Amino acid sequence: MPPLWQEKLRKITPYVPGEQSSNPGLIKLNANENPYPPSPRVREALQGLDTGALRLYPDANASRLRGALSSYYGVKPTQVFMGNGSDDVLALAFQSFFCSGQPILFPDITYSFYPVWCGLFRTPYETVPLDGNFRVNPRDYDRPSGGVVLPNPNAPTGISEGRAFIEDILSHNQDCVVIIDEAYVDFGGWSCVPLLEQYENLLIVQTFSKSRSLAGLRIGVALGSETLIATLEAVKNSYNSYTMDAVSIEAGAAAVEDDAYFRETCRKVIGTRERCAAALRGLGFTVCPSDSNFLFVTHPAARARDIFEAMRAQNIFIRHFNLPRIDNYLRITIGTETEMDKLLSALAGYLG
Ligand code: PMP
Repeated sequence: MPPLWQEKLRKITPYVPGEQSSNPGLIKLNANENPYPPSPRVREALQGLDTGALRLYPDANASRLRGALSSYYGVKPTQVFMGNGSDDVLALAFQSFFCSGQPILFPDITYSFYPVWCGLFRTPYETVPLDGNFRVNPRDYDRPSGGVVLPNPNAPTGISEGRAFIEDILSHNQDCVVIIDEAYVDFGGWSCVPLLEQYENLLIVQTFSKSRSLAGLRIGVALGSETLIATLEAVKNSYNSYTMDAVSIEAGAAAVEDDAYFRETCRKVIGTRERCAAALRGLGFTVCPSDSNFLFVTHPAARARDIFEAMRAQNIFIRHFNLPRIDNYLRITIGTETEMDKLLSALAGYLG
């Protein structure tokens, strides 16, 4: 029998991230990382770093990065919040805004961290089924709730919605906070930053892990009204004042300042995605329309789990979710042209 103290431990089912591995020659298409390196300006910023200054705590306001982001998005510095990856920002946002005791709403097929945070923070929630084409019906969100969280583009489908849809959700949910998780928006989606002026209850969350190729540094951002951002700051400062380390602040600002590199990288990923979507359709896959840096696919004649295992055996990692409704789908991150060619030929070989 386990000792009594063990029965008192917190029991929770955690989020499982895409597998990391250091296999030589691995083609890693399972965590939606960017195949291209960050801007050369990030390297310069890191090389110029005064390591002696690391003995001091970082600027708790991350002013340099905050300034770069406020100019980039055309919002006040007091409308910008930063954290240790957007998972950190989202977790703080759940704690800050989803505390009414009423269930919050999100789709049944979405970022699988949302229910985990609800479990951790004891936030009640209801999942709202996507339709047969994996689309959100905004009418399903026309009801009182403790809050709404939607990724746009959605994950893991990659499907995105436009301005009219987001405005519809916001205008019917003015009594709670609506979080739009724009982790993948830079790959062709519509960002709702222009709606910040109109909707004080809108919180937009973005990340440097995808379009800015900085998953290894952990930089996440929230944009919202001054009231929402001040609330997030207060909750952060009640938990850990130094969510942003000094290295991330400098490197993050350097990445934001190199807009030309950022646009070029996104353009390359989008080009490869469109070419691969067509090639996968040619192999018989059904491919969801994607505005993200991944494709969500299913094949009528081969089980997703088997394809996943077959690719894994060839040192190509893609993602399979053993979850209701999507267990016969695969999520494939867009890699370099060469990586995708290798994947496509491995799939062609497997499918005969
Ligand atoms: N939101 C969505 C929809 C994601 O897919 C991810 C990546 N797992 C995140 C947020 C978190 O990204 P990060 O913590 O690297 O910023």
